[in-house]
Amino acid sequence: MNIILLGYPGSGKGTQAKVLSQKLGIFHVSTGDIFREELAKKTPLGQEVVGYLSAGRLVPDRLVLEVLKSRLSAETRGLLFDGFPRTVDQAEGLDNWFAGRSQSIDAVVFLNVAEGEVIKRLCARRTCSACGKIYNTISSPPAKENVCDACGKPLTIREDDKPEVVTRRIQVYKDQTEPLLAYYRSNGNFYEADGGLTPEAVAEKVAALLKR
Ligand code: AMP
Repeated sequence: MNIILLGYPGSGKGTQAKVLSQKLGIFHVSTGDIFREELAKKTPLGQEVVGYLSAGRLVPDRLVLEVLKSRLSAETRGLLFDGFPRTVDQAEGLDNWFAGRSQSIDAVVFLNVAEGEVIKRLCARRTCSACGKIYNTISSPPAKENVCDACGKPLTIREDDKPEVVTRRIQVYKDQTEPLLAYYRSNGNFYEADGGLTPEAVAEKVAALLKR
């Protein structure tokens, strides 16, 4: 099964993708995580994308598609895309790549969250520097301030969750990613879930949609 999660940055794609990929036994592909890992390891790819990430701009389509194809060519499990595609050109690139592998997209799930809510969430987001667990200082704070409940390491604010970058990311989403809703909506396997609920409630809704 191949699934795409769509939605604003901060709409809960990463959180839902972790739950869903485990539940369905499919591979969670987060292009944002791939780029952040490369950046942390200071690889040539990391150096190439650092400017885009810290400014909240999109990495060029050609590069995103190249990285994904090389990473996923040997993957035999189903794929759960989180943060990809982000432009219509990426979506077309994915369609072509899947067509060449006799694969297709089984479901596109849009997590619908109001713009004001995602801005609040992004500004309150804290991420564990070691294990990557995600917290929200308002709705799901750690037991001890700034310390990860799971591994005891310090929590950090993602560079691109700083307010000035958040504003740019929201605008980039509206300009370049939102057109994907129309691209996929006509396909018959497009589902929409209220992403404004608790993560547990959203997970239930998404699971129910996918059962259809
Ligand atoms: P995310 O963690 O999905 O919010 O992604 C963080 C940043 O990585 C984005 O703001 C972009 O700079 C870059 N990025 C992640 N996925 C993509 C993509 N599919 N296309 C272009 N840039 C991306």
